[in-house]
Amino acid sequence: MICLDLCRNKNIAVIGFGKTGKVVVDCLMAVGATIYLYDDNGIDDEHYLGMFCDLLNFDWSNLDMVVISPGVSTLWPRRHRAIDFAHRYGVMPMSDIDLFRLHVGYSPTAKTAVSNQKVIGITGTNGKSTTTALVGHVLAVANSKSCIGGNFGIAALSLADDQDFYVLELSSYNLDSSNIFGFDSAVLLNVTPDHLVRHGGMSGYIAAKQKIFANFHAASQAIVGIDDAHCREIYEFLKTLKYPNVIPISGVKVPENGVGWCDGMLVDNRDVIRGTNGDYAKIICGRYDALDGVHNRQNIAASYATCAVNGIDAEQFVPALHSFRGLQHRQELVATFGGIQYINDSKATNAQSVKQAMMRFDNIFWILGGRPKEDGIESLIKYFHKVKHAFLLGEAASDWYNYLEYCGVQAEISGTLDVAVLSAHALAQKEDTAVVLLSPACASFDQFKNFEERGNVFTAIVREICAKSGESTESSLGIVAGSYTT
Ligand code: ADP
Repeated sequence: MICLDLCRNKNIAVIGFGKTGKVVVDCLMAVGATIYLYDDNGIDDEHYLGMFCDLLNFDWSNLDMVVISPGVSTLWPRRHRAIDFAHRYGVMPMSDIDLFRLHVGYSPTAKTAVSNQKVIGITGTNGKSTTTALVGHVLAVANSKSCIGGNFGIAALSLADDQDFYVLELSSYNLDSSNIFGFDSAVLLNVTPDHLVRHGGMSGYIAAKQKIFANFHAASQAIVGIDDAHCREIYEFLKTLKYPNVIPISGVKVPENGVGWCDGMLVDNRDVIRGTNGDYAKIICGRYDALDGVHNRQNIAASYATCAVNGIDAEQFVPALHSFRGLQHRQELVATFGGIQYINDSKATNAQSVKQAMMRFDNIFWILGGRPKEDGIESLIKYFHKVKHAFLLGEAASDWYNYLEYCGVQAEISGTLDVAVLSAHALAQKEDTAVVLLSPACASFDQFKNFEERGNVFTAIVREICAKSGESTESSLGIVAGSYTT
């Protein structure tokens, strides 16, 4: 747990009592802070009940700090009352990530790193968890004292405070509610529409993502994906600044002075080798089965660049990459039998992430639906010829069924996941090779607690089918995010 010395004996309001809020309270209790705790849904944990008060009962004029959870909206769809109060009484709202950063290796007043502890922030619409886990894995294999957390499932403040490297996954919510930053390395993978309600539209979402580069210091490194137009614009802007040092990365080409891919090889184009017939970029390694697909090339390029600027060389990176199994619920091979692959891609909650699976597989029996997001499935139309049959779930089912039918895709409304998997399995049996793919393009909350539960239900049903069939199966199950250890 991080020791929050700056908060010792202070009066602090904590707004939001989910997973993050609880860790904040525990850290504050450890340094004797007086805590005023509030959550819109009340608090059902007896241990903390004594701290709970209504916002109107807070002694706002006496507060030293207000800590807000990532779920507390700062502006959209409407600003939370607690933030209005904080502004009225001149107390700046802070996030757990801000508190973390104030205590680990950075001085916001001097805008400089103040210890050798390095904090690496990673964001993007898609690929955050995979890249965070991969960077953490490579650092750990290289025997660095390192840990991963943030949106990854391990609250930043619960990490041990004696580490040399902290690798933090940051969602747009984390970024929106934070202001300190000053990261030693900051990674932006990609930006496509997501969470637009919380950010008041696309420009608000882009602005939140861009915050990861705020308050850079002279030794900071920015690693930016240049495969989409929004990120390219951010990259061009960062290049005009005095610092950070900016490294462009790509999953589809080799950027000038950056890291990317050419003919299936990962290439470091910053590191030219002088030859008699000219200069050559350094080839790092070839593609790797457990992290296949263009999207993973982007993640690998970003991970390599991040590790490289933190002292890991190619000779250390490549074997570590090859020992990384990928994460659960991200294009995870649950089983192969009778020529059919069963893929759990439950984390694909938007069209852009589903696109990665569509590009990778053919002859797809596609299970999709749930609570729809802003970007729908229209952008996937050019991959519909790969879909043999679609099985629709949840709240999106009837609208998307109509749309798929209109586009000439064979589809049926399954309603629930068990019905969808059994139907997909039955139909796929008629093929020599096929893929039963859960890649929902939707949030899970209409029928499940979260995407993990949805993926676990899929996996359990597939395993049951396999067990009944009696055939031998193959699988390559990924690492469980949130309980990552090397
Ligand atoms: P995040 O943490 O940003 O949600 P994950 O690594 O958990 O990202 O992957 C979530 C989904 O996005 C998976 O379906 C995965 O296949 C897809 N994905 C992973 N990396 C990328 C990327 N760089 N670009 C687009 N999609 C990606």
